[in-house]
Amino acid sequence: MNLILFGPPGAGKGTQAQYIVERFGLPQISTGDMLRAAVKAQTPLGLKAKTIMDAGGLVSDELVLGIVSERLAQPDCVNGFILDGFPRTIPQADALVDVLSGMGKSIDHVISLEVDTDEIVQRLSGRRTCSACGKGYHVVNAPSRADGFCDVCGSALLQRDDDREDTVKHRLAVYDQQTAPLKKYYEQSGVLRSITGTGAVEEIQRQIVAILEG
Ligand code: AMP
Repeated sequence: MNLILFGPPGAGKGTQAQYIVERFGLPQISTGDMLRAAVKAQTPLGLKAKTIMDAGGLVSDELVLGIVSERLAQPDCVNGFILDGFPRTIPQADALVDVLSGMGKSIDHVISLEVDTDEIVQRLSGRRTCSACGKGYHVVNAPSRADGFCDVCGSALLQRDDDREDTVKHRLAVYDQQTAPLKKYYEQSGVLRSITGTGAVEEIQRQIVAILEG
């Protein structure tokens, strides 16, 4: 099962992807996570991407396609995968078709998580991540017990540079211009399913399972 989780930043793609990983045993391919790992490791790719990511822009299609193609060729993707944060532009989606068809594959489902803009700004600007173990928190919705420190390992919680409010607004504008048109693209190919991305996490999970098992 080859799946794309689609939606604006903060729609909950990462959270839902983790659930699908556990439930269906498919690997999650998050271009944002891969790029952040490259930035942290200070690889040439990471150094190229960092300034653009911090400003909330999109890194070049060429660069992202390189890392996604390499990842899709790994043996754990043979029975399927979950793309999270990719594709983000029409040229990326076109290139994905080519890469997959070269492997005799195609996309089975695109699940679009629908969340309105005010909710996204609130979600992203309150999001915090443990600097050591990566556990996620939210200052209002899911606070840690000790303010600023991880419940699991006690390390400091950090805010992603691109989760600051002005950058979030820019990321949303980029989403509207470059990524939102992909909805029509996938609607036309008959694979798009839209569900609401607000409300109880379990209810969103239930709807995703119904789509994937339906
Ligand atoms: P995310 O964690 O998915 O919100 O991604 C964080 C940042 O990584 C984005 O704001 C972009 O700068 C970059 N990025 C992630 N995925 C892509 C992509 N498919 N195309 C271009 N840039 C991306």
